[in-house]
Amino acid sequence: MNNIEHIAFAVRSLSNAIPLFEKLLGTPCYKTETVDTEKVKTAFFKTGESKVELLESLSEDGVIAKFIAKKGEGMHHVAFAVEDIEAEILRLKAEGFEFINEVPRKGADNKLICFLHPKSTNGILIELCQEMGR
Ligand code: ZN
Repeated sequence: MNNIEHIAFAVRSLSNAIPLFEKLLGTPCYKTETVDTEKVKTAFFKTGESKVELLESLSEDGVIAKFIAKKGEGMHHVAFAVEDIEAEILRLKAEGFEFINEVPRKGADNKLICFLHPKSTNGILIELCQEMGR
């Protein structure tokens, strides 16, 4: 795996969280994007070589709404950049890790993504992401 591509926080309201994170990070939100398949709206900030992603649920029964209901707002996942997501999935499966989705899907920010299951990673939700169109 390469650098931490982004770290993602679950928030109740992007309209509240975006100005807060702009102040906190001292950098403007450079993109918001809706991912219908995930029922989320995302907002991105550049922090050096990494990014911060904010996630707001678009539906009462979306994964982010469920996460916040259970754990409150806060850190949701860490994403590592990979060169070849298929190869990395095979490597990690061979090491015994479990995936939430082991078929990569299109995520926000022009990425192919997949998630490891937190039960196999000490409770930490980990995303792998590969830049698309390379
Ligand atoms: Zn992410």
